[in-house]
Amino acid sequence: MLKENLAEVEKRVAVACRRAGRKREDVTLIAVSKTKPVSALREIMDCGVVDFGENKVQELCGKMEEITEPLHWHLIGHLQRNKVKYIVDKAYMIHSVDSIRLAREIQKEAQKSDTVCQVLIEINIGGEESKDGIPKEEAIPLIREIAELSRVQVKGLMTIAPPVERPEEARGYFKEMRALFEAVKAEQIPGVEMEELSMGMTGDFEVAIEEGSTMVRVGTAIFGARQYAV
Ligand SMILES: *Cc1c(COP(=O)(O)O)cnc(C)c1O
Repeated sequence: MLKENLAEVEKRVAVACRRAGRKREDVTLIAVSKTKPVSALREIMDCGVVDFGENKVQELCGKMEEITEPLHWHLIGHLQRNKVKYIVDKAYMIHSVDSIRLAREIQKEAQKSDTVCQVLIEINIGGEESKDGIPKEEAIPLIREIAELSRVQVKGLMTIAPPVERPEEARGYFKEMRALFEAVKAEQIPGVEMEELSMGMTGDFEVAIEEGSTMVRVGTAIFGARQYAV
């Protein structure tokens, strides 16, 4: 069941890449496994997927204890400063850095565990009240500050597009993200490596790929709908 879902998503990613004239290997498919059991992750791992996305520190750490194979664990959800110490040497990449205070905490903990942490800067591209992430105007100043931190490696940008009815309606947001990505890159800030643009989820990943996404975070289309305990 999950294998068929994954094959279908893979096909759609490949078609979107072809449509956009991009190479398939330029887009990383992150399987977003939050709320799903380890057995489900294993099924997807068996198909060769190594990139998994989780939005909670505790859940990510728990799954890592059970699955010892070397995977890329992406932390895609909001990160509280008091949780940084649990994750700093475990996450392959933290997609949700949106303040200098959080970046400084990552620096401190990365120093302690003698590691360097790869991060993306989360942008609230729709300017939504309820969303994490910074307004796009703040991206360059924040990245300049973070670039001073020797153990926090900025690798690019991330966004969650506002919910839309049709994927096509998200295109404008993705275009804005791409333009911002290019603008940051053009600044050539020392120590900053603008390589990743993390955008696109189940509802809109094909449009995101067409607009230059390098990492799509797909949960529902692979693992099915999530059930949250009330
Ligand atoms: C849950 C989540 C996803 C995946 O969402 P789907 O719509 O299920 O594909 C992607 N990104 C973030 C940040 C998430 O929290």
